[in-house]
Amino acid sequence: MSMDRRRFLEVAGLSALAVAGKRGFDALTDGGRAEGATERRPAARWAMVIDLRKCVNDRGCTDCIAACDRAHNVPHFDERAHEVKWIWREPFEKAFADHGSPYTEDAFKSKSLPVLCNHCDNPPCVRVCPVKATWKRDDGIVMMDYHRCIGCRYCMAACPYGARSFNWLDPRPRVKELNPDFPTRTKGVVEMCNFCEERLAKGRAPACVEACGEQALVFGNLHDPGSEVRRLLRTRHAIRRKPELGTGPNVYYLV
Ligand code: SF4
Repeated sequence: MSMDRRRFLEVAGLSALAVAGKRGFDALTDGGRAEGATERRPAARWAMVIDLRKCVNDRGCTDCIAACDRAHNVPHFDERAHEVKWIWREPFEKAFADHGSPYTEDAFKSKSLPVLCNHCDNPPCVRVCPVKATWKRDDGIVMMDYHRCIGCRYCMAACPYGARSFNWLDPRPRVKELNPDFPTRTKGVVEMCNFCEERLAKGRAPACVEACGEQALVFGNLHDPGSEVRRLLRTRHAIRRKPELGTGPNVYYLV
């Protein structure tokens, strides 16, 4: 991305945030640099932090999931085999099968939590794609080109988090509420969470972050030491899913 475009996005983002006054998204701030200063700032590295003490997903809240599905035309199939999911919930013990002491797990035993693509630093899904339909941007977002995808599903096999879904059937008739601003997909392609890159480009928070009434989801720039995500990771204990695999997940869970 050119500096001109980056500056535009920064300014657009800050303006939108000032108007919206949204919390949970500090992505485009830079920790105190004066407006108009010209020094080059480091590229963003997006991350999500999910506070399990605030998330009430286990009490039936699905606001983040519903907002994501609406924003991205995610289809709904009754049959589990055809399921397409960008953000969904998993029981704590399944999401973190090998994590913590028995006492830690006890505290979260009844908890289900939101899971999504981790936009890994070292994404195996990208490495195995034979046609480069999926790639990693400089800001860390793992992207997907639905038109380029040949439906081989190597990426699904490579992802250790089950974060990718395949459209076994035509998804279009199964979209509940069509969002004309986001593309629908076709039968035979893989899809996944995109960290709401289309909203970030307009200075907006990810749909799930914006929808969370508990402010349990926080999104921001790991390269900005003054960002809220960095503050949370500095002051709270955070865990990630399967970090031992070396994928470098960028979704953090505060416990
Ligand atoms: Fe790829 Fe899975 Fe990591 Fe997402 S979570 S970047 S799909 S390996």
